[in-house]
Amino acid sequence: MPDPATKTVAVVGGGITGISAALSLSGAGHTVHLFEALHELGGKIGETRLDGRTIPTGPDAFLARRPEVTDLAVSLGLADDLISPAAGSARIFRDGRLHPLPPNVLGVPATADVGATGLVSAAGVERARLDIDAADDRPDGDESVGDLVRRRLGDEVHEYLVDPLLGGINAGDSDRLSLEAGVPQLAVLRSKDPSLITAAANTLASAPANPGPVFHGITGGLNRLIERAQVELENRGVRIHLGDRATLQHAHGQWSVSNLPIDHVIVTTPAHITASLLTDIAPEAASVLASIDYSSVALGVLVLAPDTIDIDPSISGVLVPRLCGLHVTAVSFASHKWPALAPDGAQILRVSVGRRTDTRWAQLRDAEVVQVIRNDLSTIFDTIIPDGPASLTRWDRGLPQYDVNHSSKIADIDRATGSLPGLTLTGAWRNGLGLPACVAAGQLPLSTDL
Ligand SMILES: Cc1cc2nc3c(=O)[nH]c(=O)nc-3n(C[C@H](O)[C@H](O)[C@H](O)COP(=O)(O)OP(=O)(O)OC[C@H]3O[C@@H](n4cnc5c(N)ncnc54)[C@H](O)[C@@H]3O)c2cc1C
Repeated sequence: MPDPATKTVAVVGGGITGISAALSLSGAGHTVHLFEALHELGGKIGETRLDGRTIPTGPDAFLARRPEVTDLAVSLGLADDLISPAAGSARIFRDGRLHPLPPNVLGVPATADVGATGLVSAAGVERARLDIDAADDRPDGDESVGDLVRRRLGDEVHEYLVDPLLGGINAGDSDRLSLEAGVPQLAVLRSKDPSLITAAANTLASAPANPGPVFHGITGGLNRLIERAQVELENRGVRIHLGDRATLQHAHGQWSVSNLPIDHVIVTTPAHITASLLTDIAPEAASVLASIDYSSVALGVLVLAPDTIDIDPSISGVLVPRLCGLHVTAVSFASHKWPALAPDGAQILRVSVGRRTDTRWAQLRDAEVVQVIRNDLSTIFDTIIPDGPASLTRWDRGLPQYDVNHSSKIADIDRATGSLPGLTLTGAWRNGLGLPACVAAGQLPLSTDL
């Protein structure tokens, strides 16, 4: 006799959120079908073969201070394969030079001496100093990161320090980015002291002396996590439907996914796709989901001969403020972070192009974008970047944007689907787009609560 508590569950979307959900549900004994539109699992976790190497085209690391991905890797037998980047020091490009960052918490300087590195002008430093004694002007609720930082520290610190750092994470616009939903750590900082500099300084002063690595990667790349998870899912009898662009039906209280009768559906696709799946079933929720904006970015991978760029190997990457006007927003030295990628000393760069406020690249063909990247790299590093192995990955609507009203949108979606038992909507658009948040999103109380 089947256990009545055991349900037939469909997970739509085979990215890290869907994989996490399928693992969690199959672990709880449910019969699970995992639907993925493409012919392989992983979603944004992708890689390219270039110059005989395998190089990530999406995420290459995850926050180690949250446990979810580390725990998942350990549970899949990858404990000994967790590695930390060998380089972790970033630079910001301004006025033809690369500047170190002052001590900071998510870009918020922890010192009034914010001009010491040359990144901020004397006038910008004077403006930032006002933060220390300025009256408490914290609003009760949410605001944008830009509103907070411009008000307390001035435009220059915002444009050349905080926006490059935070805007770089989601290719977003920190003048629209929700403090509470998008960068909750900064909301905590704001709650600690009216002065952001004081709050950041206190945070750094109370940090443990040896906090351990900030990021983890996996030897051989994050795709190994996906491969291991797929084997584990198959061993547990999960039916993985690859190349199946799932559709949802709901009639007389019964769900079906791609015409398969299902007790419970967990949809983990990006918000605009989830919206299209629900247009006829839950139009109100679909319209709110469709209003969650996404940024499109391109990720170029370039393999350069050793020493093409004269740069210290301790530098992990360079951030490019939007006021510089370049297409490139960030350069990550993959071969500095993960030396095993380049035993021959090659310089391997992962270069991000485009942001919410700059979609110029989207009109260009791949080869043109790569040429634009080479030109921008020549400007940033003041050296000619010769032709060589390169690849380009387009992430159309790749990164969800957490705007100031994000939490109320989520509440509206939940309200609009509250009358549809058997439906769970989750994914990178909900509670954070980093990999730990996505793994957590797949582990919602689903396993026990169906
Ligand atoms: C360039 C880039 C770099 C990043 N770097 C980092 C980083 O270093 N660290 C970090 O923590 N995060 C990073 N992120 C963010 C992180 O990778 C993503 O937020 C996360 O992988 C999203 O996972 P997901 O499963 O929610 O969605 P996705 O990975 O988008 O998966 C959704 C899946 O649903 C499938 N699908 C769509 N429609 C259907 C359908 N109808 N039926 C079935 N399947 C469907 C898609 O094909 C896709 O596989 C990065 C993102 C990008 C784009």
